[in-house]
Amino acid sequence: MNNPILLKNLRNVPDFPIPGIQFKDVTTLFKNAECMEIMLNEMYELYKDKGITKVVGIESRGFVLGAALAVKLGAGFIMCRKPGKLPAETIKETYMKEYGKDTIEIHKDAIEPDDVVLIHDDLLATGGSMKAAYNLVQKFNPKKTYINFIIELTIEGLKGREMFNEDTEITTLLTI
Ligand code: AMP
Repeated sequence: MNNPILLKNLRNVPDFPIPGIQFKDVTTLFKNAECMEIMLNEMYELYKDKGITKVVGIESRGFVLGAALAVKLGAGFIMCRKPGKLPAETIKETYMKEYGKDTIEIHKDAIEPDDVVLIHDDLLATGGSMKAAYNLVQKFNPKKTYINFIIELTIEGLKGREMFNEDTEITTLLTI
């Protein structure tokens, strides 16, 4: 895909949040109406015929297009959140980050076995956070689970895709 309008509008912030990280700032895509329309249409074309019944967005940048896409697909939207944010009973998954551990949660009644799920986040780097979300979703035993990102980072030797089996269907709008 790599739409040139998206590439032109994506802001790179060097040394954020720590020195050495090239942070891909999707807020400059979200604030641009044309970029929002391009991203949403590209995602809709990828998933319109897949029978998606639930879109899961990962906090917080995965909420923006995840929710918009859910409306377009006629699907429900589920929040996958940081610990302590969801009010009802949850299930959790802990995963390793570069420095220490992190946990994400989803409501215990979020997904049914007859759901077809799409998990969406803004960016794939090491794949740790998406793998944790994917593991959480698998606990509900849904019919099928798809994965989508706005951006896949392959620079600096990142191979986030390798966290997943080859038969897991992963799409990205931009590969950098
Ligand atoms: P990972 O779990 O390593 O795949 O990291 C993905 C998560 O961290 C996503 O939710 C991203 O928003 C964020 N992230 C990691 N690296 C970057 C980066 N270089 N630019 C922007 N966001 C990043």
